Amino acid sequence: MNKILGLHHITAIASDAQRNYDFYTKTLGFRLVKKTVNFDDPTTYHFYFGNEVGTPGTVLTFFPWTGISKGRIGAGMATEIGYSVPKGSLEFWKARFEKLNIRFNAGEQFGEQYIDFQDPDGLRLKLIETKEKDEREVWETDEIKAAVAIKGFHTVTLTLKNIKATADVLTEIFGYKQVEKESNLYRYQTDAVENAAIIDLLEIPQASPGINAGGTNHHIAFRVKDEETLMEFREKIVAKGLNITGKIDRDYFFSLYFREPGGVLFEIATDNPGFATDETVENLGSSLQLPTQHEPLRDKIEKALPKLQTK
Ligand code: ZN
Repeated sequence: MNKILGLHHITAIASDAQRNYDFYTKTLGFRLVKKTVNFDDPTTYHFYFGNEVGTPGTVLTFFPWTGISKGRIGAGMATEIGYSVPKGSLEFWKARFEKLNIRFNAGEQFGEQYIDFQDPDGLRLKLIETKEKDEREVWETDEIKAAVAIKGFHTVTLTLKNIKATADVLTEIFGYKQVEKESNLYRYQTDAVENAAIIDLLEIPQASPGINAGGTNHHIAFRVKDEETLMEFREKIVAKGLNITGKIDRDYFFSLYFREPGGVLFEIATDNPGFATDETVENLGSSLQLPTQHEPLRDKIEKALPKLQTK
C-alpha cells in the first residue's frame, strides 16, 4: 500500500538520561528497543522506547541532553501524546500513579476515557481507553502485565494558531479525513491502518510559539512501507511548494523531513529495515549501537556518555 500508515515514531527532548530511562521502562513499562546516539551529536544518547520489537506506531524516542533548559509548550509543535491502553485498565494506572506519586487528571474526550499526566521533564502524555479495537502486541514487565500494558500511540495533538494549512497537508497529501470535532479540537484519522491512525489539531489563535527544549516534542514521524513510497510522498510535498530534505539513512529506517506550514516538524519514515538489524530481537536495546561513521570513536563516545543503570 503506497499510503501513509499512521504514525511511525515521535521524538522528544529530555534532560537526565537515567531519569528518562527509568520513567519509560519502569514506570510506564516500555522496552528500550534501541540505545544509540544522536547521529549529529554522538555524545548524546538516542533512546527508543516501544513494544518488544519496536513496531512502528509504538515508538517514542528521546535525546536526553543533560542540563538542558525546560522548553515551552506552544503553537507549531506536537503538544500531547495519546497512548492506547486496554479497556478497563485505567483503574490499574490510576492506582499505580497514586502509589508512585504521579499527578494525573481523569477525563473524557471524543467518547473515550483517559488520564493525562506528565513525564519527569514535563512532556504531556495521555493514556486512553480507545474506541477502536487494539490488538497490538505489548511488552510485559514484572509489574505491568499484558492485560494493562500500553499498546502504542493512539493520537498526537498538534497545537496551531490556525489549523487550515496543516489540515490540508493531512487531507490532501497524507490521506487523512476529519472525523470529529470538540470545540477547538479537530480530529483527523486515516483508514489505512487500525491503530496510531489519529492526529488531533488544537486551534488556539492567541497561542505563543512553542520553544523546543526539555519536555517538548521535536518532531512526529509518519509511517510508509518502503523507500519507493517515501520518494512518492517526497514528490507530492515538493509539488505543494514545501521544502523537504533528501532521503536520509537513519540506520533503522529511511527518512525525509519537512516543516508543515503550521510550524510542526514532520518526518516520513519507512518500515524497513527495522530495529533487529544490529541486534537480535532478544537483545534489543541491551548494548550501545553506533552508526558506522561513529564506530571508530566508540571508546571516546562511551566515556563521554552519561552512565546508565539498566538493571
Ligand atoms: Zn524521527
